[in-house]
Amino acid sequence: MLIDGEWIGAGGAGAFHCVDPYTEERWGSVPQADAADVGRAVGAARRAFDRDGWRETPPAHRAALLRRLAQLIESSADALTYQQIRENGKLVSEMRPGADLIARACHYFAGLAESTTGVTVPAQGFTTYTTREPIGVIAAVTPWNSPLLLLGWKLFPALAAGNTVVVKPSEVTPTSTLRLAELIVEAGFPPGVVNVVTGHGEPTGAALASHPQVDKIAFTGSTAAGKAMARAAAERCARVSLELGGKSPNIVFADAKVSAAVSGVIAGIFAATGQTCVAGSRVLVERPIYAEVADLLVSRARELRAGDPLDWTTQLGPVASRAQLQKILGYFEIARQEGLELLTGGRRLERPGLFVEPTVYGGVSNRCRVAREEIFGPVACLIPFEGEEEAVAIANDTPFGLAAGIWTESVRRAHRMAARLRAGTVWVNNYRQMSYAMPFGGFRQSGIGRELGPQALEEFTEVKSVWIDAAAP
Ligand code: NAD
Repeated sequence: MLIDGEWIGAGGAGAFHCVDPYTEERWGSVPQADAADVGRAVGAARRAFDRDGWRETPPAHRAALLRRLAQLIESSADALTYQQIRENGKLVSEMRPGADLIARACHYFAGLAESTTGVTVPAQGFTTYTTREPIGVIAAVTPWNSPLLLLGWKLFPALAAGNTVVVKPSEVTPTSTLRLAELIVEAGFPPGVVNVVTGHGEPTGAALASHPQVDKIAFTGSTAAGKAMARAAAERCARVSLELGGKSPNIVFADAKVSAAVSGVIAGIFAATGQTCVAGSRVLVERPIYAEVADLLVSRARELRAGDPLDWTTQLGPVASRAQLQKILGYFEIARQEGLELLTGGRRLERPGLFVEPTVYGGVSNRCRVAREEIFGPVACLIPFEGEEEAVAIANDTPFGLAAGIWTESVRRAHRMAARLRAGTVWVNNYRQMSYAMPFGGFRQSGIGRELGPQALEEFTEVKSVWIDAAAP
């Protein structure tokens, strides 16, 4: 772990193992941080912020450090990619370009560090202006599915704005974050500005979230854990931003280009083996083309090539952990009990590694559990609909609101639907596009706040209003 610029090994709470989901081999041992370790990390971040002057560093200096870090990420992209794949089994074809995206996001927030401004406001007799100040110590708690990308979305704007950070990566993917921490040290960030504590949600994450000297929790993970974070933050009115789960609709209208739409559906639910927060797990299909879409989707799902995530031609990797595998198999059983029509898949793949078959259920009602609960696996529910009104009603009938896809050739319908869907991101004739410059986040139980874009920097600042009596004495 990295605490106050020092590398710390396992202490009283011991260590835990990393498991490669492709080979199912144990390959690493990582310290479990206890409350005392967390306290030391938060204390270091507090000192770096309050006493050692990080909050007052000129923005140009912070920007220069972030640019140096971005260059180090670029030159270490292969190593960072490999480390993440070993932890979570995601495909090299997704993770290697993802490493470049992390570096670009770092460059982007370096730029924003130097361009953050306040405003002046006309108020008679007074000179008034606002400034944006860093919040303080940020706890960044991250999941396993895109460990470094999702960490970067918090870390880079937090540092650009002048905060200090304690990172708690997922227990499934701690080593890639430790590798990034090596680069942070190499880039020249002062001790205590970035600290990393490794461990499980309990005790490590919980100790961090409830620490009285943490000023903000920036969390990505499940909705259940996010609610626990928000409760911990509420005790002391700490700031909180949450990027949580989803059950996103991917809506195919009868006027869509069917082949392109099915490619989008496949990218939405089978990419990353369905382990993405924006997975298009509810596939709404207008009745006139329902049979055509179902047939094409099933035949293409069956063709997906499962294999080694490090092979560039592999199309379906393992799921990240045994717990995740059990969860998905549990939903196959729930679907069986609910009497759903299984069009393809529905089983563990008969081969070594934590693989499940790409799965499609047909004629699904939006009231079924598999259509309401986040499975986080390669499981698509096909839901037929008739017309725009019904599509909107079904799409919005969910506790979540992270993303939505629309497939149509009508520009009018595209705008009408984009306005009516209750989701933080709407994709029209594409799915899963992301940019560091576009805000990302959820409506409703998919989260609070936005990452990426200029909004991300605002989320890591407090606004101060200054009133100066400028009237003549
Ligand atoms: P998770 O909620 O189990 O864990 C996320 C992090 O929180 C981990 O570091 C974990 O150790 C920690 N944690 C868990 N319980 C905790 C507790 N009670 N107190 C403190 N810390 C705790 O999520 P996961 O399984 O790692 O990731 C999958 C989830 O993340 C899915 O629900 C997915 O939708 C969501 N996700 C959301 C986004 C987004 O941007 N909206 C992106 C990726 C993943």
